Amino acid sequence: MRYGSDLSFLHFSPTKVVFGNRSLSELPSELDGLSAARALVVTDAVLAAKTDLVERVKKALGRRFAGVYSDVMPDSGVGIVDRGAAKAKELAVDAIVSIGGGSSIDTAKGIAIVHAFGGSLRDHQGFQGMSAPTTPHIAIPTTAGTGSEVTKVAVIKDEEAHQKLLFGDFHLYPRVAILDPELTFGMPPMITAGTGLDAFTHAVEALHAMQAEPVADALALHAIRLVVRHLPAVMKEPASVLHRGQMLIAATMAGIAFDNAQVGLVHAIAHTVGARHRVHHGTANAIALPHVLRFNADVAAEAYREAGLAMGVETTGMPDEAAVDVVARAIEQLVASVGLPTRYRDVGVPEADLPAIAEGALSDGAIVYNPKPVTEASDVLGVLRAAY
Ligand code: NAD
Repeated sequence: MRYGSDLSFLHFSPTKVVFGNRSLSELPSELDGLSAARALVVTDAVLAAKTDLVERVKKALGRRFAGVYSDVMPDSGVGIVDRGAAKAKELAVDAIVSIGGGSSIDTAKGIAIVHAFGGSLRDHQGFQGMSAPTTPHIAIPTTAGTGSEVTKVAVIKDEEAHQKLLFGDFHLYPRVAILDPELTFGMPPMITAGTGLDAFTHAVEALHAMQAEPVADALALHAIRLVVRHLPAVMKEPASVLHRGQMLIAATMAGIAFDNAQVGLVHAIAHTVGARHRVHHGTANAIALPHVLRFNADVAAEAYREAGLAMGVETTGMPDEAAVDVVARAIEQLVASVGLPTRYRDVGVPEADLPAIAEGALSDGAIVYNPKPVTEASDVLGVLRAAY
């Protein structure tokens, strides 16, 4: 029994979720519902140049289209957000529509802050410091992983400090998330796999995190079932509305779960690896995840047994440490089966940088929610060495 009679929690998820193939067509009526008349479309340079996704959004918006800001880079930065907010002001918009992966959605959250309150994004760092709503934002994910479409956080790189800054506020939730499977068809295979494992990691970390609670657990466990079933299938059939759709649902459910329960050591490591090296966030998570399970085994075995059960891995009757190892191995198999690297050495992280990554992870906001307190860099370094 993971919870006792002293259980108390707050579960909140205000984002309206609109799911369905071709649900992009709902965009104008959703904007009307927000009384918004002029929207800035926020996306990344690759999507703007190499896909028709922006054109599709522009067409759907019709007279509500005010302009496009397409300077988002993977793992967006403070300067990119500030310039986007200046463009939003210049175009006198009253809404932001993001189309893209977590980098575009997080950038749009940052733009919505600076557009509403002024200054630079750097001035608004931290948690629950916003006194009024940010500019209304509709998020349209084109990857199935980050869950940013339903979370109150934005992760933006401070290019100078080589650190990811966290912004968290109830005013940061997108008002609407439009989940349209067809818009995710064009993801390159490694992004499909990496983002799928991002969703999976959110679900597992939501189960072990310090704020874990039963509503988030239910969402997380179903997200795990969906990823295990549909991620390998979507790797074989990238244009399947069914598998793409179920992965979008998994990412959104895992997003709501971790938004409430929080994450832990896996994310503290992945944020730091991502800020210091060009490693995709979901891939950085996938590499650390099994090793963090083993590190936390003595305090979170029950949560990991539940995760294992949702994966179809039976551990009844096994001692805790052996059970957690079986679940960790099943995760390693899942990661390898979708073609992702399983070691940091294989994604360009230099071994000499591991101590600095360990120090960086210690000051990442996610680490305080890890079920086992992590106060020594040597503990993180141990996990990093195992994952190297
Ligand atoms: P991304 O947004 O960085 O996109 C990765 C690449 O995939 C880009 O080159 C993009 O152009 C391409 N791409 C995306 N969709 C595509 C499509 N449909 N067709 C073709 N190409 C496509 O990747 P991501 O993994 O979605 O987002 C990662 C970011 O999200 C990181 O900065 C991470 O810190 C952040 N994040 C935020 C939250 C949150 O709750 N706010 C949660 C997890 C991660």
